[in-house]
Amino acid sequence: MERMPNPSRVLYTSWSSTLRLPKSTFPPRTSALDRAVLLKKCTDDLYSWQLHERPLNNPFVLHDGPPYANGSLHIGHALNKVLKDIICRFQLTQGKRVSFVPGWDCHGLPIELKALQQQQRKPENPALADDTRPDADAVMVRNIARELANRTVEEQKKGFREWGVMGDWDGAWRTMDRDFEIRQLEVFRRMVGKGLIYRRYKPVYWSPSSGTALAEAELEYRSDHESIAAFVKFPITKISDDLASKPGVDLANLYAVIWTTTPWTLPANKAIAVQENMTYAIIELPGGCQLLVAESRIPHLSKVFLREPVKFLVQHISGKELIGTTNYMSAFQDQIFGPQPFIHADFVSADSGSGLVHCAPGHGMEDYEACAKLGIEVFAPVDESGCFTRAALTRDPELLEGKSVLSEGTETVLDYLEANGHILHTHKYVHKYPYDWRSKLPVIIRATEQWFTDVGCIKDAALKALEDVRFIPDSGRSRLESFVKGRSEWCISRQRAWGVPIPALFHKASGAAVLTEGSVAHIISVIEKRGIDSWWTDAREDPAWVPPHLLDQSGETAYERGKDTMDVWFDSGTSWAMLRGPQSQDTGPLSDVYIEGTDQHRGWFQSSLLTYIAHQSAFKMSGPVLTAPFKTLITHGFTLDKDGRKMSKSLGNVINPSEVMTGTLLPPIQRKGNRARTTNNNGSVYDGLGPDALRLWVAGSDYVRDITIGTPVLKAVNASLHKLRVTVKLLLGALQDWDAKGIVDYEKLSQVDKMALLQLSTVNRTVLEAYRSYDFYKAVNTINRWVNMSLSAFYIEIVKDRLYADEPQSLSRRAAQTVLFQIYMNLLGMLAPVTPLLVEEAWHHTSAAIKNDTQHPLKRPYPLVQGEWNDQALASDLPSLLKANDAVKLAQELARNEKKLGSSLQSSVHLVFSSSDSDPSATYRLFQRYLVELESLFVVSSVSLHHLPIDRGFIDQAEWHFSTEFETVEGDKARAYVLPPAAAKCVRCWRYNVLTTSDAEETLCDRCTNVMAGINEMAHAFSGDCYEQTVARH
Ligand SMILES: [Zn+2]
Repeated sequence: MERMPNPSRVLYTSWSSTLRLPKSTFPPRTSALDRAVLLKKCTDDLYSWQLHERPLNNPFVLHDGPPYANGSLHIGHALNKVLKDIICRFQLTQGKRVSFVPGWDCHGLPIELKALQQQQRKPENPALADDTRPDADAVMVRNIARELANRTVEEQKKGFREWGVMGDWDGAWRTMDRDFEIRQLEVFRRMVGKGLIYRRYKPVYWSPSSGTALAEAELEYRSDHESIAAFVKFPITKISDDLASKPGVDLANLYAVIWTTTPWTLPANKAIAVQENMTYAIIELPGGCQLLVAESRIPHLSKVFLREPVKFLVQHISGKELIGTTNYMSAFQDQIFGPQPFIHADFVSADSGSGLVHCAPGHGMEDYEACAKLGIEVFAPVDESGCFTRAALTRDPELLEGKSVLSEGTETVLDYLEANGHILHTHKYVHKYPYDWRSKLPVIIRATEQWFTDVGCIKDAALKALEDVRFIPDSGRSRLESFVKGRSEWCISRQRAWGVPIPALFHKASGAAVLTEGSVAHIISVIEKRGIDSWWTDAREDPAWVPPHLLDQSGETAYERGKDTMDVWFDSGTSWAMLRGPQSQDTGPLSDVYIEGTDQHRGWFQSSLLTYIAHQSAFKMSGPVLTAPFKTLITHGFTLDKDGRKMSKSLGNVINPSEVMTGTLLPPIQRKGNRARTTNNNGSVYDGLGPDALRLWVAGSDYVRDITIGTPVLKAVNASLHKLRVTVKLLLGALQDWDAKGIVDYEKLSQVDKMALLQLSTVNRTVLEAYRSYDFYKAVNTINRWVNMSLSAFYIEIVKDRLYADEPQSLSRRAAQTVLFQIYMNLLGMLAPVTPLLVEEAWHHTSAAIKNDTQHPLKRPYPLVQGEWNDQALASDLPSLLKANDAVKLAQELARNEKKLGSSLQSSVHLVFSSSDSDPSATYRLFQRYLVELESLFVVSSVSLHHLPIDRGFIDQAEWHFSTEFETVEGDKARAYVLPPAAAKCVRCWRYNVLTTSDAEETLCDRCTNVMAGINEMAHAFSGDCYEQTVARH
């Protein structure tokens, strides 16, 4: 460039340098280094900022449902934690002071089993071999388990933080922390005081594989479990005189027929149950054998094993008549228990078996209930590994002893019955059966002495409390209610080492248990001093653990500490106690939201509800209504692969969240140099968009259902994230010289500008409503659609000309910037909960002029729309205008297909309406009102309006023309014609609106001539150096 330029020559050679083309430092991708800085700013820094800046009296609490501290992170964790974070970040935009303290569930069997495996791998440890502490094994297991849990917590925490989840990570709680355990024991103590904890010898779900009792929440039901079912006959030893006197009835040949799917429970049989209101019959088989069965079951029995036509001896015997009058002999315990009774039970039905039900109160919950009322004792000759004890068959103890009831034991029982003539028929039977959710092996029901929580007593209050809870989705309510209704007690003791001890003491000689509010308080005080491990490490006879009143005069004690630990659901269920002071008597919901997977209805949601209700009821004998710990309860589905299958290691379809962030699940891209992209060993480069990609996938999913993840959805996520980045870059470029002083009042904006604000205000409200109702995918879809359609394909296309070619300080250009500024701040505000890194990064590249004037988009309230933006007149006109726009675009596409048209500006548009000059339709008048802006709206060089009939001359004479029909909102037909422009092209702005007939090589339109005049004036006013810089910069 010349030192002292002749302005006309400079401009002549470089028109584009006189345009204000958008410029921004915002990169297409973020470098790893930048990402780390941004991540800290939009998580840790933001979280602590709001703790200091937001008012204490406007809190929002999201209580973290603790993940289990075992195993590595999977995509389900990402769904859960990112949803929580979106909720918290939205609340931040609502002016709340957010509290999210992450937690971990650390105790329990899976970690204990891992610890046991480790312990077995190094049995030769001499230091451990000499260990003479009372529970050396338990101590060792606890140490290893604690170490394992500790390590996992740290690994998981690192992963969670990489997802952009903000919270009090340094203040995170773990169920194995001292403070947590003390709070939990305090809750337990109150429940003991209220009489809600008791010990009983009764059947519980028992896992032979884990060697412990299980709660219902720890069961999984499999519907393909196969058992051997049997019809068995037991000799009847006594019947009513009336029946005995019936002709043909022979007591010596009379048998009661029962049907069981668990023949291994027959040695524990204590009664036969019938239904009072059913009728029974005595029938005779060929050979003289007489059977007592329900009349309604005879057709079924005939099919299964009777085969011959039935000979009735007695019919219409009422169930009532059998109760109290009839006795029978068990095939196993006849010598021990003698004759056993017939009893009534409601659960006997006419739908299965023989209508007589074998009762083993030691191995069935219903059996237990029916027998307990009658004082029939529990008998359970099965040990903790699920094998028969000697008591199962006293006349031949070795036959059953040590045999597993679920395999060999069942076979031996059946063989024994067969050999003694008790079997009528056996068959395979496939049915629903409970399995241990951890070991995936079948459980049994077995009577043991366990600690229970009395749920029956707090159930009604719990159900009442749920009435005030908001459920998302609604179906969660009935699901949680049904789990609560279906439970009357909660077995809370586990025979494991890795957990919080049940603080019970036992009398050494009698085995009698001591568990009172006072004894628990005493034990808590010792744990506070000595730590919880000393429960296992202290000498068995250490009197410090025993309340003073249970010590004898010499200070010795006859009591020792129990060995059971608490159900881990009790641990995590009391985590609400972390939300308040340890001694606090707060009531009311402690957390605004609980959100977890649907499996937690029977797990954490339920245990949290029950423990909180129990706790409150311990304080408030009467008084205010008890509440759930949560105000809103949200459940999310599971994550499935792209084919809708569960993810599992064996299927090889497990997706690691980091793969979503590094983009390695998508095909590699091959473009030149960018540091942010992940390079793997093959040298392939992947489109890694970081945590925002993971978060956008979560936010865009309808999480109340099970959601899928795979290449197709991740491709779409990356594409929309790129689109957002491009849009942010465009907006930043357009606002490069934005100055708040140049802001244009709404009234002075063009109609097109007002349309953009109208669309923005609609989007803003829709997105806000979606966030409020936790429908994040609706928010994301609305933002994406708006960015793609209303912004990129519409408004930004429209205002490019003004932004680039108008005089920089002109009203029209400042108007466009005014609108784009609102759009930019709104876009960042709406994206803040979902893609905080993108927002943080955009802000980093935002001009100081904007930053000085506006609050950080992650810190400011959700963007407000101004009432005037919602212009109703415009809103009713807009659909017609957009229809015409679509028609124009379509006609242009036709022209492009024929290679007639390049830029949209290369068209002149003629809209032809069906009304007449003398009587213009409403639609015609509408378009007339907007006529001056239609060029700009359609991004074409000229627009004219016509009535029918038209003189087609100008159309037919045009070099080419294309047209499409469209229907106006009023229902009129209209047609849009696209023709080549009649005017010449302006060399600066490329619009075809130069009407000059001069054959000069380069012509300028009027607007550009004026702009150039301004630039020329400026050039004269400055020295050559300054001018050169001014021009070059743009
Ligand atoms: Zn021009």
